Amino acid sequence: MKIAVIGLGNMGQPIAQNVLQAGYRLTVYNRTKEKTEEFASQGAQVAKTPRQAAETADIVVTMLSDDNSVSAVTFGKDGLIEGLSENGIHISMSTISVEFSEKLAAAHAEKGQSFLAAPVLGRPDAAANAALRIIAAGPAEAKKTAKPLLESLSQQVFDVGEESKTANAAKISINFLLVSMLEALSESFLMMEKYGLEQKQFLAIANALFSSPVYQNYGTIMAEQTFEPAGFKMSLGLKDTNLALAAAEQVSAKLPLAELAKSHFENGIEKGLGNLDWAALITCIEK
Ligand code: NAP
Repeated sequence: MKIAVIGLGNMGQPIAQNVLQAGYRLTVYNRTKEKTEEFASQGAQVAKTPRQAAETADIVVTMLSDDNSVSAVTFGKDGLIEGLSENGIHISMSTISVEFSEKLAAAHAEKGQSFLAAPVLGRPDAAANAALRIIAAGPAEAKKTAKPLLESLSQQVFDVGEESKTANAAKISINFLLVSMLEALSESFLMMEKYGLEQKQFLAIANALFSSPVYQNYGTIMAEQTFEPAGFKMSLGLKDTNLALAAAEQVSAKLPLAELAKSHFENGIEKGLGNLDWAALITCIEK
């Protein structure tokens, strides 16, 4: 089985490494060519365009920033959709909108190709340890073909059905839960400080009840104010909050908490905090 990985950023690099480790033949493409060099030295083929990468592969994995970058690489000049064979599979692991996921599924189906949405939970260290959690959706046959590959990149694969957009909506909802946690924990920290309780002391009490790595990790980042270097930038937090609001609008659902967090992120970004970790939401609220 031949695999192409397009997008060698913080997440795509460790994913491509694990594709090699799992023994697949790998082709890589990245807009900035320097990032392909270490893969060339390990025996991977380097493609000059997304189309060329797709021509070499049974499955093309894209791990790019957002809708715009996945669109450029798929539908732009020398895009992957023109290189992928009939029966070829495009797996999109990026956090993209529900609407764009539907567009990708339809465009690939028109060409006799398959589209799988497989967004991920976990940061770059989880990707490096093949410990991501993947939410997968798309045609059953394509999921069956892709299963060993997805399993080699993750600790768990959730199959949420045949419609790709369900996987993207689920990923967006998980990020919305994280945003809600950041908002609630920030507000609690700030109130309890006014009662004279340090953030770390309050976190110890919260952890006794919630005992989740999510509260532990983000609570510690907030209490210690280690917002740099950002594991996940506030600007990306705003992107994902907007994705949640758009996904809700599509099905006439309401996310008032997302509206609140959006306004806090926007204020923070206006004040120049956009490159800090999104846990700096507490600073936006405080200000
Ligand atoms: P990243 O480090 O910023 O990498 C982005 C990749 O997209 C790079 O390869 C970049 O190429 C490429 N790219 C951007 N715009 C492009 C364009 N117009 N045309 C072609 N290529 C373009 O991002 P990341 O952290 O790997 O995140 C990738 C995706 O995973 C995002 O959707 C993110 O929301 C999601 N995600 C991230 C995390 C995390 O903790 N980082 C966790 C879960 C999910 P260049 O190298 O040329 O810039």
